[in-house]
Amino acid sequence: MPAIRTVLGDIPARDAGVTLTHEHTLIFWPGAEFDHRAAFDWNEVMTGLAAEFREGAASFGLRTLVDCTTVEMGRHPKLLCEASERGGVNVVAATGFFCESMGIPYHWRRQSVAELAEFLERDVTEGIVGTRVRCGIIKVSSGQDDAHPHPSPLFANGRHIGIYEERVFRAAGRAQKRIGVPITTHSDPEDWRAYNIGLEQLDLLMEEGADPAKVIIGHCFYASFDKLEAILRRGAAIQLDNIGTGWRGLDDDYAAGLVRQAVDKGYGGQIVLTFDRFWYQMRGERPFTELDPEVAVRMPVSFLPERFLPLMRRHGIDDAAIRRIMVDNPARILAFA
Ligand SMILES: [Zn+2]
Repeated sequence: MPAIRTVLGDIPARDAGVTLTHEHTLIFWPGAEFDHRAAFDWNEVMTGLAAEFREGAASFGLRTLVDCTTVEMGRHPKLLCEASERGGVNVVAATGFFCESMGIPYHWRRQSVAELAEFLERDVTEGIVGTRVRCGIIKVSSGQDDAHPHPSPLFANGRHIGIYEERVFRAAGRAQKRIGVPITTHSDPEDWRAYNIGLEQLDLLMEEGADPAKVIIGHCFYASFDKLEAILRRGAAIQLDNIGTGWRGLDDDYAAGLVRQAVDKGYGGQIVLTFDRFWYQMRGERPFTELDPEVAVRMPVSFLPERFLPLMRRHGIDDAAIRRIMVDNPARILAFA
C-alpha cells in the first residue's frame, strides 16, 4: 500500500486526509540561529503551534501538513515531531535547499550532483543527521532575493536556474528516480511573468528521470493559463499558495479563475492548495523595516475555510473538486512511488 513518510513514521496515504502541501512550521533566514534577538521560548512557541494545528483540524479538517522548510532555513526535526504530537496533525518534513540567492550554504556549493543526491536520499531513508526523523519530500528552489524581487537572469548554464540550483534539481531528480520520494518546488513570481519557470524546473527534474506525477510546482498562480497547461500536460501538479496575502501581487480571484479553468479542462487531479504560511518565524519581535521587510503576511488559519473556500465555490469549483484538491491529490502525490 502506498505510504506517506511523516516525521513520526510512515502512514497509509488514504489516512492523510485534508492536507496542506507547503507550510513552514518554523522558518528563519540563514544566520538567525546566531541572533540573540531571535531566541525563543520553546514552550510558548510549541503551545502556539499546537493550538493553530488544532484550530485547522477543527475548522477545515486539517490532518496532514507538509513542512517545506529547507535544511538551511530552520528545518527543525525535534520541533516538527513535538508539534505533530501536541497538535494532532501529521507533519511531513522536507530535505533540500532554498534558492541560491539566499540558501545553499558554501559547504553544499562544493558538492557534486552525486554527492547532493546521496545526501537527499539519506535524509529520506536514514533520517536527518543526528536523528531518526526521516524526510518525506524533497524541496528544490530557484529565483532571486525575496526582499527585492526581480526576474532571474539567464545564467551561464543557459537556464533561469542558477548553477548551484541546477545541481540540487538534478540531485533531486536522481534521488526520486531511485527511491520514489516526491518533489516540491519553490519558484519566483517574477520569473513566471517573464517566462515559464515551472516548465524549466520540470524539464531539469525529468532530464534526471523524475516522474512528473510525483512533482508539485509551487508559487505558480502568477502564470497565464497556457503556461500552467504546459506543465499540466506533462502530468505534474500545480500548487495554489499564499492565498489571501497578495504576495508579490497575487490576486485570489485570478488564481481561483485559473483553478476553475484547469478543473474544466480535466486537470482537477493535478491541483493542490495550501497557505505557505510562516507558522512561527524565528526573527524576534523586532518591527519590520525597509531593510528587513516582511515578505508575506501571515494569514489566519480561518481564512481558508471562511474566505477562500467560499471564493472557490463562487467560481464554480464544487465540493467534490475541492475534496480532490485538498485530500485525494496530495495523498496520491505525496505517496512514495
Ligand atoms: Zn514556502
